[in-house]
Amino acid sequence: MVTSPLSFTALPLFAAQLDNLSTLGYQAMTPIQAQSLPLILEGRDLIAQAKTGSGKTAAFGLGIVHKLDPSVYSTQALVLCPTRELAEQVANELRRLARAVGNVKILTLCGGTPIRPQVESVKFGAHVVVGTPGRLMDHIERSTVDFSSVHTLVLDEADRMLDMGFYNDVAKVVAACPGSRQTLLFSATYADDIRKASARFLKKPAEIKVDAVHDAGQIEQRFYEIDADRRHAAVAQLLEHFRPESTLAFCNTKAQCRDLAQYLESRGFSALALHGDLEQRDREDVLIQFANRSCSVLVATDVAARGLDIDALDAVINVEITPDPEVHVHRIGRTGRGQDKGLALSLCAPYEMRWANQIEQYQGQAIVWANPKSLKPAPGGRLRAPMVTLCIQGGKKDKLRPGDLLGALTKDAGFAAAQVGKINILEFVSFVALERGMAKDAYAKLSAGNIKGRRFKMRFMAEV
Ligand code: ADP
Ligand code: MG
Repeated sequence: MVTSPLSFTALPLFAAQLDNLSTLGYQAMTPIQAQSLPLILEGRDLIAQAKTGSGKTAAFGLGIVHKLDPSVYSTQALVLCPTRELAEQVANELRRLARAVGNVKILTLCGGTPIRPQVESVKFGAHVVVGTPGRLMDHIERSTVDFSSVHTLVLDEADRMLDMGFYNDVAKVVAACPGSRQTLLFSATYADDIRKASARFLKKPAEIKVDAVHDAGQIEQRFYEIDADRRHAAVAQLLEHFRPESTLAFCNTKAQCRDLAQYLESRGFSALALHGDLEQRDREDVLIQFANRSCSVLVATDVAARGLDIDALDAVINVEITPDPEVHVHRIGRTGRGQDKGLALSLCAPYEMRWANQIEQYQGQAIVWANPKSLKPAPGGRLRAPMVTLCIQGGKKDKLRPGDLLGALTKDAGFAAAQVGKINILEFVSFVALERGMAKDAYAKLSAGNIKGRRFKMRFMAEV
């Protein structure tokens, strides 16, 4: 099973919240949620831009609710919205997300209604306040609210708030919150002046942008800045975190390919190298094992991968950034075909930054930088290919056909057909993919019995 990067389960959320999300019918993260939530849950300040209707509310809402302590009766989160209607909508979404943590009081404080009844309800306290800047200002001036315990401050639709001339009010409300807070700024448009105007509200914000015209598309791209000497370890971390079943990992040189495949193999991954120095026969062996799911990571150079026809690649990893942006786009295009969303992960050492910038320009889309520290091994233990390949010293020349091998395994040895994978019969040898759990047993029975009345030598292509 592959943990989709878009599944909420990829996030460090509480089980009750994950249950709640599936009750709400939120099956997968929207692109802006996928990009922002890991950072939000890490506690980073954030400037995020995505078009209307892209699910920004749940992005900051989940961050707020995750940190909320309902047993503490102080205002822990404050959301500023440009209008009363938007504030009501946000409050409703927050109420639905807060169901996961029980009794949470969420209060709206907006203009357009008399202030006196509001003052009364504020007295009872609220865990979360959602309001418009002007009215919040009024409350601050009357000392009817206390924002000194706010740990999350959200400026929703910041572009509109500033357009509507709320800058001074926003600044005063922000000043009423403690300096130690996390600040999240969301907007539908991406204007430089908004960024400049709000810079003083945020601390070292991460910036996220989901393209307004076409969304991130079929391929989810993430870049990780790493030290060059940690490259191999970082590839292992990516694999353990995302657990893709099939990965094509690109290196710029043959030597890098060989080294990385060896490193991964020594760490218990099923990895093979594909590069120009391989004999045609070795190349064939490698490709068969990758296609029959007994190799899960193929480490290749661009040249060796050319003409490679494999579908259903879960992930592409750029172990090194290519100096040619066109090559980058070509590499990542190998994942995310058809209905499936692809995952493209790029490791970038400081000296490769200029190439990353070139890629950014070429794509016309901001690079999403993810924190390598967010890479934690996902549950499931050692990540190994589900199948192993048995090589049998008999092929077409011996008149072997796939049915003969399948028959020997199912009828004679008593295994289920589902435990047997792809069968490739070449001139002199055949390859059978076997489920890892039964492979040794199958080998014992096959080599002790016979196939089509004959005995064949056989061996595993990798350690079982
Ligand atoms: P925005 O603030 O970006 O304009 P909203 O937060 O109002 O967008 O979300 C738009 C709609 O999408 C809402 O009805 C919300 O309930 C829904 N929504 C948000 N996230 C998800 C999700 N992960 N899966 C399904 N629906 C979602
Ligand atoms: Mg919104």
